[in-house]
Order: sequence, then C-alpha cells, then structure tokens
Amino acid sequence: MKQSQLFTKTTKDALKDEVSVNAQLLIRAGFINKEMAGVYAYLPLGLRVIEKIKKIIREEMDAIGGQEIIMSSLQPKGVWESTGRWSDEVVDVWFKSKLKNGTDVGFGWSHEEPITEMMKRFLTSYRDFPAYAYQFQTKLRNELRAKSGIMRGREFVMKDLYSYDVDETRHLAFYESVKGAYMNVFRRVGLGDITYITFAAGGAFTKYSHEFQTITEAGEDYIYVNKEKGIAVNEEVLDDSVLTELGVSKNELTKVKSAEVGNIFNFGTAKCDDMNLFVTDKQGKQASVYLGSYGIGVTRLMGVVAEHFADERGMIWSEEIAPFAVHLLSLNQNEKAEEIYNALNKAGVEVLFDDRDANAGVKFADADLMGMPYQLVVSEKNIRDNRVEIKNRKSGAVEYVSLDNSEIVRYFGKK
Ligand code: ATP
Ligand code: MG
Repeated sequence: MKQSQLFTKTTKDALKDEVSVNAQLLIRAGFINKEMAGVYAYLPLGLRVIEKIKKIIREEMDAIGGQEIIMSSLQPKGVWESTGRWSDEVVDVWFKSKLKNGTDVGFGWSHEEPITEMMKRFLTSYRDFPAYAYQFQTKLRNELRAKSGIMRGREFVMKDLYSYDVDETRHLAFYESVKGAYMNVFRRVGLGDITYITFAAGGAFTKYSHEFQTITEAGEDYIYVNKEKGIAVNEEVLDDSVLTELGVSKNELTKVKSAEVGNIFNFGTAKCDDMNLFVTDKQGKQASVYLGSYGIGVTRLMGVVAEHFADERGMIWSEEIAPFAVHLLSLNQNEKAEEIYNALNKAGVEVLFDDRDANAGVKFADADLMGMPYQLVVSEKNIRDNRVEIKNRKSGAVEYVSLDNSEIVRYFGKK
C-alpha cells in the first residue's frame, strides 16, 4: 500500500485524556481512533493486525476441531433468566435495552446461554458429540473502569470457543488440547516466554479454572510465578491448599503484574442442566452434557503486544502480526522505490511504501512509530552505491542488499 493514499496520518501529540501507553501509541500511529472512553475504532493498519491475530487463532482452533460461527449481538432475556445471569447483581457489565414493543434485549457480553439454547436444536443424541464451535465477536460490556486502552474496552473483540460433550473423558481431553492450542497462539504472537497457564478461581464444577496471564506492566492483575517449575497462580486464589496441591511454597513464587489474555472454564454439566439441554445416551436414557468455555481477548492481546514490544520511538511488531512486513522508505527516489515496491508486491511480500513528499526525518520517525519489522531505505546515496539499506526495527541492525529486485525479494523471501 502507498502511504500517500492511506487516509490515516501519524500525530506527534498524544491525547490528553488517554492514559494507557498502548492506546497512546496506536492512536499516534493511526492504527485506532478513540470514539470515547473504552471504545475504539480500528483503522486500516490496526485492522490488519487484528486480522493477522485472528488468522493465527483460527488456524489453532481449526486444528483442534473448532468450527467457526457468528452468534448475534442482540440477545433475548429468556435464555439468560434460565440460569440467573440476566440479573445485574450477578452480571455487572450488562448493557440492556428494549425493542419498540417493550421486549427486553441484552447486548452480548458473553455467549454461553445463547449458544447452548441454539445447540438444543442440533444436539439430541450421544451420536451428535462432540461439538466445538467458536466465533470472533465484538463483546459489549459496561466496564466500570476503562483506563487500559484497548486492553479493557467497553466494546472489544473476543474469540470464544464452546465445547459440548456427553463423554467426560473426552471433554477433559479437549480442555487439555485447548491449553496447547492457546499456548501456540501466544507463542506465535511473540508472547510465549512470558505467558503462563495460571490457576484461577474455579466455577460451578471445578476447583480451579485456568487463565493465560502474560507478564507485563500494562496488566491489571497480579500473579505469583515460579519460572523454573513453570507454575503460576492468580493472586485471588493463592492459599495454602493450592500451594500444597502444586507442591510449591509461597517463598518460591514471585509476584508480578500481568494481563489476562485468555481463560478457559469447565462448566461441567451445570450449565446444560440448568438450560435443559439433555440428550439420549446409548441405552436410550437421558444424559447430561458437559460444557467448556474458552476465551481469548483478541484486542487485549493486540494491546499487550503494542505496549510490551515498544521503545521510546514507537511500536515494534513481529513479522507474524505486523500490518506490513516491510516499510519501504523512499528518500526522494520514488521511481526506483516504485520498481522495488512492485517487485515485492508481485512476490507476495506485504509492503507499506512511504512515497510521500516528506523529508527523511519525518519518514524515519513515522516508520519507527508504526513499527513494521523491516525498514527498506532507498536514498540517492544508496543508489549511487548500488544497494539498498535494510534496517531491522527490533534489533536496529542494518544490512545492505545489492540494488537488484530479485536480490531484495530473495532477502525477504528467506525471512
Ligand atoms: P477481566 O478479569 O480482565 O475482566 P474476564 O474474566 O471478565 O476478564 P472473560 O469474560 O473470561 O474475561 O473474557 C475472555 C477474555 O476476553 C479475557 O481473558 C480477556 O483476555 C478478554 N477481555 C475480557 N474483558 C475485556 C475487556 N473489557 N476488554 C478487552 N478484553 C477483554
Ligand atoms: Mg471482566
């Protein structure tokens, strides 16, 4: 894409009312727009990051048998009443409204109840299992505080997966396979070595649930970790019984700040029982259904990455989720740069081409702020030396490649 045609622009100054680092950086770089507190629009560069994160998650969900759907944002009151979760005392983040005829509706903050209601149509016999459905959905939550930028939105993108099974062993095996798939996701977005499967408060059925907590100053949670043993416990559940169970003592654990990027929850049969989802087993008798619910905060994840991998000059995206792999900077050399741009595009390399009529200082500052992994500089001097300069945004390392389109394509091809 040519930067001269991109409708967004970078801005030097941060917004006064925006306290979070992730939103400051993303707003300044033109990735997002703040509509109001906790509500952000995703602009072309920001959307490309979201789509790449979604692609990674989609691949991992499909690999464990997930089938993608999209549930609705408007939800009927009845399904939530059946489990007691329509109540504002029980769920304190509801946005609710009424249809013109007076019917109550809720805006989807989660989807366990509506999807379970829907599944009643399809899951009737033991033969219908397992069923694994997931979606990417904009959740609406009336959060009390929204000071963490896109890491805590009142409107945010979540990936939620729901598993249904009549066989408890297979249900628990799937729960374990989600742990693996989730760690793959966090590794692929670059957070593998600072993300821990964390023991957290349990639910109706199990003593513990599992959160995926990324160690970062940007987070709102505190966890206790032992890196050597790979153990992490949420502050909320840290008591003698969990320590005994895990075989660690408190003095072996270090308290760190973290962000919950995902969590997985075993409802047992409680939710489906409450909602009257029963099926017939092999003997023709009524059987209960196990439900698992598994979330990843897609936009929160983007915020964690934006903030965590940043320096004083701006953001630093990894190749897997960067809006573009290469930021091609033409320093008054648009003709030569355009040839390189065309060659890279043809080879399938994603390039943002800074063809604007702007000076080198502006172009370098913008490129550093936006944070594409590679900056490819085409200047008069480089052309004279018959080469291009390729700077790695993360390491700062500079390499030179001869001014030959196939050489340049090969450089990015081998990455
Ligand atoms: P938190 O304790 O941070 O409020 P939660 O327990 O309410 O999270 P879930 O309902 O399990 O979160 O949602 C699944 C995932 O969605 C979370 O692990 C988190 O990554 C993300 N998430 C939750 N609330 C928000 C929000 N307000 N903005 C952005 N992402 C969120
Ligand atoms: Mg919450």
